[in-house]
Amino acid sequence: MTTLIYDLGLEALQTWAQNRGQPAYRARQIWEGLYRHLWASPEAFTTLPKRLRTALAEDFTFEAFQPAATLVSADGETHKTLFRLPDGAQIETVRMRYVRRRTLCISTQAGCAMGCAFCATGQMGLRRNLTAGEIVAQVLYYARWLKQRGERVTHIVFMGMGEPFHNYEATLRAIDILNHPQGFALGARRMTISTVGLVPQIRRFTEEKRQVNLAISLHAADDDLRSSLIPVNRKYPLADLLAAVRAYTAATHRRVTFEWALIRGVNDTETQARRLAALLQGMLAHVNLIPLNPTRGFQGEASSRQRARAFCKVLTAAGIPCTVRLRRGIDIQAGCGQLAARESGAPDFVLKSA
Ligand code: SF4
Repeated sequence: MTTLIYDLGLEALQTWAQNRGQPAYRARQIWEGLYRHLWASPEAFTTLPKRLRTALAEDFTFEAFQPAATLVSADGETHKTLFRLPDGAQIETVRMRYVRRRTLCISTQAGCAMGCAFCATGQMGLRRNLTAGEIVAQVLYYARWLKQRGERVTHIVFMGMGEPFHNYEATLRAIDILNHPQGFALGARRMTISTVGLVPQIRRFTEEKRQVNLAISLHAADDDLRSSLIPVNRKYPLADLLAAVRAYTAATHRRVTFEWALIRGVNDTETQARRLAALLQGMLAHVNLIPLNPTRGFQGEASSRQRARAFCKVLTAAGIPCTVRLRRGIDIQAGCGQLAARESGAPDFVLKSA
C-alpha cells in the first residue's frame, strides 16, 4: 500500500528526499506546499522539478479518504462531512463557524472502544485507530475549503469520533505536524484534546508539559451515575481522575475544561451541581454545560435552558466558572458518530441506565 504523505514528519520527508538524491531544501518545499499552500496533489507542486513530482506520485498517496456525505445546518454555520477511508472505515469531521472562530472537530479513531451510553460512536465499537496522517488530512480538507472562501482554521478540538488518548501517539504526532512553524503553524493553544478520562494518558500528557488544551468529559459527579454513562469510569473512578487532573493543573498551571452534557432529570439536578462544585473546589477549571444533542433511540432528553442556567448558577455561586454553550448542528446530527451510525444502520444512542 502506498504511504499517505501526511503520515510523514518533516524529518522523514528530508530522509526521503535524500534517498532520492535531492537536497534538503526540496523536503522543505514539499512541506510548505502541503501545509502552507495546501496543495492536494503532486501535480500542484510546480516549484519542484518534474522528476521529483513524478517521484512524489510514485511513492505517496495524497488522498486519505473520500467524502461520502456532507450535511449543512439550516443556519449554514455547521458543516459535517462523513469520510470513507480506503478500507471502508468511516469517520466524521465537523466545521463550526463562530463570530471570530473557524473551529474543526476532528476524529482520532474509526469508531470507539469506550462505549459511552450517550454516544452514537460508542455504540459502534472500535474499528481501528486513525494514523496521524488521517487525522491531519481531516484538517487539510476543511482548511482548503475555508481557503477558497478567504478564511482559515483557527481552532481544532479532538472531540470527534474516538477517544484521542486511546490513540495517543497518532494524535500527538498529528498535533506536532499541525503545529509545525514551517508548515500549518496552528498554535498549540488553539488545539484541545478532549478525553473521557484515561488516567495514565493524562499523567503522560502532564509530563510532556504541552501547551495544548485539555478537556475532560465529566457528565456526572458521582461514580454510580458516571459509570452508567461512561463505562471507563469503573476503571478510572472520579477520585483517580480528578487527582490526575489536579496534578496536571499543578504542573502546567493550565486551566482544564470540564464538559457536561445536560440530560434532563439525570445529571441536571441541583444535587449534581452541588457535588460537582465540591469536586472542583480550588481547581483551575471551567465547566462547559451543553444541553444533550438528541439522537435516535435515546430515551433521555436535553435539559431546558432554564435548567441549564440554574445548574450554572449553583456552580458560579461556588466560585466555579461556568458557561452554558449553544448546541450546534442539531438538525444535521452533528453529535459524534451520528452520521456514520445512520449510514451503517446502527442505532444512534441508548441510555443504559440513569
Ligand atoms: S463520547 Fe467519545 S469516548 Fe465516549 S464513546 Fe463517544 S467517541 Fe468514544
